[in-house]
Amino acid sequence: MSETQVSQSNIGADEESLRMISSEPIGNEPVSDEELRPRALEGFIGQPLLKAQLQLFLDAARKRDVPPDHILLAGPPGLGKTTLAMIVANELQVPIRVTSGPAIQHAGDLASILSSLDEGEVLFIDEIHRLPRPAEELLYIAMEDFRVDVMVGKGPGASSIPLTLPRFTVIGATTREGMLPSPLRARFGFTAHLDFYPHEELERLIERSAGVLGINLAEGSAKQLSLRSRGTPRIANRLLRRVRDWAIVHDLDLIGPDDVQAALELYQIDSEGLDRLDLAVLNAIVKNFDGGPVGLNNLSAMVGEESETVETVCEPYLVREGFLVRTPKGRVATEKAWQHLGLVPKDDVNKLF
Ligand code: ADP
Repeated sequence: MSETQVSQSNIGADEESLRMISSEPIGNEPVSDEELRPRALEGFIGQPLLKAQLQLFLDAARKRDVPPDHILLAGPPGLGKTTLAMIVANELQVPIRVTSGPAIQHAGDLASILSSLDEGEVLFIDEIHRLPRPAEELLYIAMEDFRVDVMVGKGPGASSIPLTLPRFTVIGATTREGMLPSPLRARFGFTAHLDFYPHEELERLIERSAGVLGINLAEGSAKQLSLRSRGTPRIANRLLRRVRDWAIVHDLDLIGPDDVQAALELYQIDSEGLDRLDLAVLNAIVKNFDGGPVGLNNLSAMVGEESETVETVCEPYLVREGFLVRTPKGRVATEKAWQHLGLVPKDDVNKLF
């Protein structure tokens, strides 16, 4: 939900392509994400196990006629956590209040939100791992006992008055589940882990989005897009919009796989979904460090990028797709990386990790 901080890029023209493959919303995307959000669990593509679990969880709450237990949604950005929270509220036909960890600066901010909730309401807290500690403590008491202590007065005369809250459901979303303290984690009755989407699911998602946006994709185009979307719905939808731009400018009624390829090449995204920064990283390891191992700082300096960007934007995908391995001694390029760069792997490439 938050505006993305796009870190300063030293590779100038790369900033655009870096943003293209960022899994955080950029520019006006929080708004454009809205039009593509499925409203019901049925329209939520993929993640079949999670959907079945959530469906059971919601059906049981409906049958018992009580608000469901609190829900934690964990997983990388852009995989559908906000969408699922909206779907839960919609399925239960209750209002949803949206906030985020960084937006709550003091425990008092949270106390005033909690004390204004209605019976059954859903409170969605994005980036819940970033709540300040006092707010976190207040939250888990509220989640367990449906009570919040409101401070009245100041100084030595201040006193706290317990306020009973209506039953509500917290849906927390986090990209860093490990950063949640265990007392808070223990208050959630259901934790869902969202994982990157396989290509076939992304293909269906792209077809659905194309339908919503009125984009005419020829056979094979959705597949081309899905292969370059880093397993992430938000990126898939973004690439689809850029391909739509291409079609508008070139007066195309039907977008073929060649058009997808041409449009994405313009944004420097290759057939494996790698952009110029990913390729710069792989090239640096292979050509400047003989395949690795190389430390993050040396690597970042070589590609002229901040180490945080290399670590959080590039590496997770490169590791997941088998181009790079993180070892205690540093980053190592795999055989697949050498081959992708059109090079013959070193003989001992597999002994490096
Ligand atoms: P997160 O909160 O995890 O960062 P969002 O829920 O905001 O991700 O999803 C980003 C975009 O991707 C939204 O436009 C949403 O509609 C779309 N999206 C995510 N997951 C799915 C899905 N499973 N099916 C259809 N669209 C999805």
